[in-house]
Amino acid sequence: RTVDWTAIAVALAPVKVIDEPVLVKKRSRDFFWYSPILNAQLKECFGDLVACPATREEMAHCLAVAYANDLPVVLRGGGTGNYGQAVPLHGGLIIETTGMKRILEIGEGFVRVEAGALMADINAALKPEGWEMAMFPSTQDIATIGGFVAGGSAGIGSIANGALREPGNIIGLKALSVEAVPQEHLFEGEDALQIHHAWGLNGAITEVTLRTVPTRDWIGCMATFNTYRDAYAAGYALASSKTIGRKLCSTVDARIVDFFPRLDGHLRKGKDLLVALVPREDMDAYRALIAAQGGTVDLALTDAEREEKGIPHVFEFAYNHTTLQVLKADRSATYQQIGVPDASDVDAIATMAARQGDDVWQHHEFARLNGEVVAFDLPIIWFNDEARLCEIDATYEAAGFPVYDAHTYHVEGGGLKNADYRHLAWKKRMDPKGLLNPGKSRAWDLVRELSPEDIEAKAGEGQT
Ligand code: FAD
Repeated sequence: RTVDWTAIAVALAPVKVIDEPVLVKKRSRDFFWYSPILNAQLKECFGDLVACPATREEMAHCLAVAYANDLPVVLRGGGTGNYGQAVPLHGGLIIETTGMKRILEIGEGFVRVEAGALMADINAALKPEGWEMAMFPSTQDIATIGGFVAGGSAGIGSIANGALREPGNIIGLKALSVEAVPQEHLFEGEDALQIHHAWGLNGAITEVTLRTVPTRDWIGCMATFNTYRDAYAAGYALASSKTIGRKLCSTVDARIVDFFPRLDGHLRKGKDLLVALVPREDMDAYRALIAAQGGTVDLALTDAEREEKGIPHVFEFAYNHTTLQVLKADRSATYQQIGVPDASDVDAIATMAARQGDDVWQHHEFARLNGEVVAFDLPIIWFNDEARLCEIDATYEAAGFPVYDAHTYHVEGGGLKNADYRHLAWKKRMDPKGLLNPGKSRAWDLVRELSPEDIEAKAGEGQT
């Protein structure tokens, strides 16, 4: 079908548009290139036009134009997702939200913001009021809150406050439907999970209300150990400590640490690393814990001290930033997302490291889920071919370590929305023509002709 994009740009007025092909191509990409498999599949997928609404009324106008002209629509925040969530598979309109960035309200334990606000800006606005976000991804400088809620899952803070999907973390959100006259719907509490991590398939988020927590004087800590086993054991001890506060707790294989040139001269060479954020008042207890676990505290810096030394935030060596540090030097690396069946079982971690070959280097993140300390592995994998990647996955799964595949662009692939018919029933209500992010849900294609009620009934049938 041929679309007259010049006419669409005119219809979108007064919304600002970007039609310069180089810029449209740039805004069609995210961090899918972490995966050589996704890179091969997505690198030639581009949108046709970018709209940049500055208000929710302008966003509603963009969606009305898309509906009237049957245009595929992909929402885009900072474009930092890793699974090609923001890549248009079928061309169409990209709606970039970064102009909708107002912080609307800061209150006792919550913040209400427009979807395109950057998380670093939200944290900066909260701090003088004595608050901070309960969690945020390490991409806070360029990622939006709408993108985090629609595409992310956990981050710095999750060891204290759980995953984003846990009760109380997303207090509510508002999202627009894609209809002749788009309607704004409010989703509160558990209902917000129908939009969370749905990759913008279920409506365009305009506003989010999130839990905040009292801010603390955080010290960025790096401790080194002689073996990965020791670093992991110390990480688990810190993560499960009842007395020491922490909002980040990550362990990194010494071979990965070699890819952190900005830490050269600051860390003992060739050692395995524990990265943490600990409040100032708990530093003595933290130092005692590290010593008891056989480690050395190499760095313990306030933000001001860190800036003076020209060292990045410690969280830029955690979560998917760890992977990025390696990829900056060598694009033949990739990664995977692995659950750990029992975070306290240090022997199982060591056994798994030995069982995988030299092409798999461990990196664990500790978090708290349903009140329990959990760990997940984001290993660096030196990519050979897809067959070897499958073999690595199979080795994890055979030992009971679930794989949440990072190499698929289907929302069901990573595990969170696995054939979730409640979420697809909401998609049918919010996007009856199926224009939002087409091609990203396998299950949608099986149910798109059904009514929302019939789709929801499938959840009861337990079908996949
Ligand atoms: P985008 O990539 O622009 O969008 C993500 C998804 O949300 C897309 O499907 C998009 O269509 C949809 N979307 C965006 N805005 C809206 C809207 N207003 N309404 C509806 N749908 C919308 N993720 C984590 O969870 N934790 C981490 O710690 C983390 N660390 C990372 C580190 C690095 C180095 C990288 C590259 C990625 C990391 N990620 C992490 C993934 C990603 O950065 C985060 O999920 C981030 O919050 C996405 O925000 P964004 O604005 O870039 O979203």
